[in-house]
Amino acid sequence: PTTLDARALREDFPILRRQVDGHPLVYLDSAATSQKPRAVIEAEVDFLTNANAAVHRGAHTLAAEATELFEDARATVAGFVGADAEQIVWTSGATAGLNLVAYAIGNATLGRGAPASARFALRPGDEIVLTEIEHHANLVPWQELAARTGAVLRHIPVHDDGRLDLDAAASVIGERTRIVAFTHVSNVLGIVNPVAELVALARRVGAVTVLDACQSAPHLALDLPDLGVDLAVFSGHKMLGPYGIGGLYGRAEILEALPPFLTGGSMITRVGLDSSEYLPPPQRFEAGTQPVSQAIGLAAAVRYLGGVGMGAVHAHERALGARLLDGLRGIDGVRILGDAPGVERVGLAAFDVDGVHAHDVGQFLDSRGIAVRVGHHCAAPLHARFGLTASVRASAALYNTEDDVDVFLDALADVRPFFGAGA
Ligand code: PMP
Repeated sequence: PTTLDARALREDFPILRRQVDGHPLVYLDSAATSQKPRAVIEAEVDFLTNANAAVHRGAHTLAAEATELFEDARATVAGFVGADAEQIVWTSGATAGLNLVAYAIGNATLGRGAPASARFALRPGDEIVLTEIEHHANLVPWQELAARTGAVLRHIPVHDDGRLDLDAAASVIGERTRIVAFTHVSNVLGIVNPVAELVALARRVGAVTVLDACQSAPHLALDLPDLGVDLAVFSGHKMLGPYGIGGLYGRAEILEALPPFLTGGSMITRVGLDSSEYLPPPQRFEAGTQPVSQAIGLAAAVRYLGGVGMGAVHAHERALGARLLDGLRGIDGVRILGDAPGVERVGLAAFDVDGVHAHDVGQFLDSRGIAVRVGHHCAAPLHARFGLTASVRASAALYNTEDDVDVFLDALADVRPFFGAGA
């Protein structure tokens, strides 16, 4: 399908019937975490009720059923991002996935892993390229890796209108660049970044690419092999799925060469008292008991999204986003972060309200049943770049309607008069 009926879809999300302070809930905080359709809630409950057992061990019927459901979930989620099952490693979320990659590269630097791991080893002065617009989850693990290895961090700057500066990227990514890690869609700007261009710049110098797909996976058709990135992370709870589950995607030869991060049970072929041998990917990266019911819940989430059709989801949310931006542009004293013309976007906008603190805006909207996020949204450097410490963010998902956007815009228009700002 190329269009979707958000009103009908809302029936699948029990929480959307809630009232807040006597107002119908207007949920515009899906970039922080999405709501869950009944199919996801029921998939987890059904597994725990009828098939729960430890996977990959035990000779009993339940263990076999649980293992099959768990591995089917991997194949389903892999298919959703255009990958094969062995290319998907379960993680507890995107933060965990990015830390896994950074620590694994740190282990390669220490000489751990297969001989092929040497390709990831960092020498002092090697460069890790990030962007100014990253979420803290795609900044701090690299800062730690740089501190441990002597590698140097460099950043691709952002234009005033929220687009990445590709001319600067072409000079920031150079001969010493070993890693280029960047977000597909910023959780503050909502702009879809030019992945192909950045991958081409990284490839030219043989750097490993890492994509943060947290804010794209729920909103557009994602084909990670087609994008050409080496590694990518996504987060279950932002894509209609449960908490505590996410995915790390890797090109087969990259995962093959990467040493493990966490070690212990379930990731080994042989263990002696002094040394051990490891399983191939994805199990090499899945030490210990895995989030099984959450993986099954995430599979239900991507089946739901696939059933609606990601083309339809993107078209719907793009239209909501355009309505949101249009409305924001018309409200006095509102400055949108990243209002670049003619760029591909998701249904998200962060903005500053002149003379009113973001937290006050959030509370005022909450008093009308409207849920938005306020603060730096874990992108403090990006806010500093725009001279701010906080902003207000409204973010839509497939279950939002034009009415949601209009109720939000009407309420926002009352904010500055209410606080006496600009009077
Ligand atoms: N990257 C981006 C762009 C995000 O929006 C988020 C979630 N706020 C994360 C990473 C962290 O994801 P998780 O909650 O799965 O750790």
